[in-house]
Amino acid sequence: MNEIRRVLVVGGGVGGLTAAAILARRGTEVIVIERRPAFDIPGVGLGQPANALRVYDSLGVLEEILETGFVYDRMHIFDPSRKLIAEHKFLLGDDRVPAFCALSRLQLHKILLAAAERAGAQIRLGVEVSEIHEDRDCVDVTFSNGQRDSFDLLAGFDGIRSTTRLHLVGTAFAPRPSGYGAWRVQAPRPADVRGMEFLQGVSSKTGAMPLSNDIMYLFHIRSEAAGANFAGQDQAKLFKERLAQYGGYVPEIAASLNSSSDIVYSPIEPLMLPWPWFRGRVVIGGDAAHTFAPHLTQGAAMAAEDAFVLAREVLADDGSVEARLMRYSMKRYPRCAFVYTFSGQWMHDEQSIHSAEELEAARAELTLNASARIGASDRILNAAI
Ligand SMILES: Cc1cc2nc3c(=O)[nH]c(=O)nc-3n(C[C@H](O)[C@H](O)[C@H](O)COP(=O)(O)OP(=O)(O)OC[C@H]3O[C@@H](n4cnc5c(N)ncnc54)[C@H](O)[C@@H]3O)c2cc1C
Repeated sequence: MNEIRRVLVVGGGVGGLTAAAILARRGTEVIVIERRPAFDIPGVGLGQPANALRVYDSLGVLEEILETGFVYDRMHIFDPSRKLIAEHKFLLGDDRVPAFCALSRLQLHKILLAAAERAGAQIRLGVEVSEIHEDRDCVDVTFSNGQRDSFDLLAGFDGIRSTTRLHLVGTAFAPRPSGYGAWRVQAPRPADVRGMEFLQGVSSKTGAMPLSNDIMYLFHIRSEAAGANFAGQDQAKLFKERLAQYGGYVPEIAASLNSSSDIVYSPIEPLMLPWPWFRGRVVIGGDAAHTFAPHLTQGAAMAAEDAFVLAREVLADDGSVEARLMRYSMKRYPRCAFVYTFSGQWMHDEQSIHSAEELEAARAELTLNASARIGASDRILNAAI
């Protein structure tokens, strides 16, 4: 039986909600289970590049996203005092879709959740999968609330610590600490922050992404001990110390940090699962299959693209389910592997600047090559999927 009529989507993040909305719009019965009891999404904001915006356009929510977020078409690289090193105008987008729109994670999730519900997907919160039993023609699932159900396909978009990935490949492929972590906090947007920007420092990088006319988020990437999570510690103090070398708007934001600041720390733990990303009728996408250093701001974008291509291939109605899932895996792998390599190398390069002399050498290199380098990546990521 090759027809896909009922799909279980595990995980209600960007990937899962996008998959649910696309599949449900095409007439598939979709149930989404989300482990969290509510959509109180941690994290601060997401820059969504044109390739992600095209997927959201196919869901009819492009306008809402553009109205909610902050549209920009370029990025700047500065030195720690916010003196310009390089400007890059993105080669992303077209007449309909801008290069980038950044918005709060919570707002993006609200928009995608509403799109999935409008399309008819059922969302069940506070539920996980307890057991998966695969038959030739279906996947039988026992849920954490004891209920059982049967589906034509199980699509795991359950994030970096995916249990669906564990089911498929065990612990063979797991995210490993890169030795780096990202600190983030929301802050008022100074009028001259009009796009994403990086302040390249010595042994760390700080930056900003505008999220609306009023707010932006400040991020900071540096080496941190594997396993560090800073829970229960004075995060405001730790974040302030880490920002000490930076100028521009940074000292004012650092001075405003206190125990009520909503500081988010995430370790950076890249993962690139070799394809195929499925077995039988169980398939994964998004962070479950690949997790990147955040430098190209393509993680959620690749999750949205995975969802789009998965829905297109499984509903294509030609060939066996296995052939269609193989097509999905093979189409997605090279593009995600490119993002994995490019962003990972960028992170290692920038985090390897450990002295004023190395910063000077990096300044010269970035002035000469940064825009061309990012432009080459833009051309690849702007191509049709
Ligand atoms: C510092 C930082 C900055 C970033 N900036 C950007 C950016 O600007 N732009 C961008 O595109 N990407 C960015 N990313 C990457 C982006 O956050 C992720 O790639 C994206 O959220 C992945 O989406 P997903 O749907 O695959 O997974 P997730 O967003 O992690 O969603 C997975 C969902 O599944 C749920 N879940 C987990 N396990 C289960 C289970 N067993 N059962 C049911 N539900 C489960 C989780 O609760 C979660 O809601 C950034 C990442 C970091 C760390």
